[in-house]
Amino acid sequence: MTTNRIDDSVSVRIAEDSVCDRMAMDRFFRVCRWDPYHLKRFRYALFVEGRSDANAVAMLPDHIRSAVVDRFRLHSLPLPVVVSSVADASEKALFTCRTTDAFSSETFSFETVLIRGTSRRRTLCVSSQVGCAARCHFCATGQMGLSRQLATAEILDQVLHFRQRMRTTGEQLRNVVFMGMGEPLHNETALYAALEVLQDPRMFNFSPRRVMVSTVGVPDAMLRFSRRFPNTSLALSLHSADQEQRAELIPLGKTAPLSELRPVLKEMVATGRPVMIEYLMLDRVNDSLEHAVLLGKFLENLRVHINLIPYNPIDGLPWTTSPRDVRDRFAKCLRNEGFIVTVRHSQGQDIAAACGQLVTSD
Ligand code: SAH
Repeated sequence: MTTNRIDDSVSVRIAEDSVCDRMAMDRFFRVCRWDPYHLKRFRYALFVEGRSDANAVAMLPDHIRSAVVDRFRLHSLPLPVVVSSVADASEKALFTCRTTDAFSSETFSFETVLIRGTSRRRTLCVSSQVGCAARCHFCATGQMGLSRQLATAEILDQVLHFRQRMRTTGEQLRNVVFMGMGEPLHNETALYAALEVLQDPRMFNFSPRRVMVSTVGVPDAMLRFSRRFPNTSLALSLHSADQEQRAELIPLGKTAPLSELRPVLKEMVATGRPVMIEYLMLDRVNDSLEHAVLLGKFLENLRVHINLIPYNPIDGLPWTTSPRDVRDRFAKCLRNEGFIVTVRHSQGQDIAAACGQLVTSD
C-alpha cells in the first residue's frame, strides 16, 4: 500500500554499515591495519566493473572477507523485479523499500529505468524520492504526492544494481540522469552525498558531465548545487517561457518565477557545464511559433542545449503531444536563433517507463 505521508526523518548521511560509505570503510581498514590495496580492488570490482557480490567479495583475502561482510551491507534494497520493453529494449526495475517508521511494515515501490539508445549509449534514469511533492499537473508521479525520501545508499544501490546487471550483457554504463521519480533538489543532502560517491574515482568513477540532475526549478538549491558541483550537468524542466502558463502547469513556478530562474541559469552556465532545457511539447498548449520565440528570448545569450520532449499521455489527464511537424517547426525556429536543439523520441512506453509515467500502482 502506498500512502502520501511525508516522512523526511530518513538518515541524511550514508548509512555507516553500507559499502557506499567510503569513509566508514576506510576507517575500518585503518583500524584493523589492513592493506588499503585490498579495499581498492574490492571497490573497483564492485562499483566500476559491476562484478557479482560473491565475486567482488572474493577479491578480499580470507582473513578480511568475513569481517567485512559482517560489518558492511553490499545492498540497501532488495533485488528488484525487472521488466523489459519489447519495442525499444529499455528496462524498468521496480524496487521496494520499507517505510522509515520502525513500527510499521508498510513498503513503497519506486522505479529505475535503463534507456538503451540507438548507439551504444546507455543511460540510467534513477529516482531520488518515492513520489514527488512538486505535483506538476501533467506528470503521473506528481499526482501521487511525496511518500518518502530516498536515502543516499538507496539512490546508489539503483546504480550498483544496474552496473552488476549490465556486466552480464557486456554493456558499459557511463550516464546517469536524475529523471526518475522525485525532485532531486527536494532531497538535497542525500542527493549531494550520492553525487559525491558517483563521481569519486575511488568509488563509481562517473565523469561529472555524464551525471545529470534534472530539476523543476528550485532557485536556492540550484545555486547550492551549482557551487558544490561545478561540472555536473543540470537539466531544467522549463516547459513554458510564459510565466503565467508555466505557473499553471507547474505549481512551484508560482513561487519560483522565470524572473528568478534566469539569473540562476546564468550562473550555472558560467562554469561551462552542460545545461539542458527540457521543454515538453503539449499539443496546442505551448507549441506555437510565438511560444518558440518567447523561449528564445528567455534563453538569449545563455549557452544551453534545448531538448524538446514528446508528451507521454497519462490516463485521466487531458494533454497530448504535439504532432511531429509542429515539433520540427518549433525546433527550426530556435535553431535559426542559434540554439542547439534536440527533438527527442520517447522510450519505454510499452512498459510505462517513459518520463512522467513512473508511478506506484500497488
Ligand atoms: N523533478 C525533476 C525530474 C522529473 S522527471 C524535474 O522536474 O525535472 C524528468 C522530466 O520528465 C521532467 O522534465 C518532467 O517535467 C518530464 N515529464 C513529466 N511528465 C511527463 C510526461 N507525461 N511525458 C513526458 N515528460 C514528462
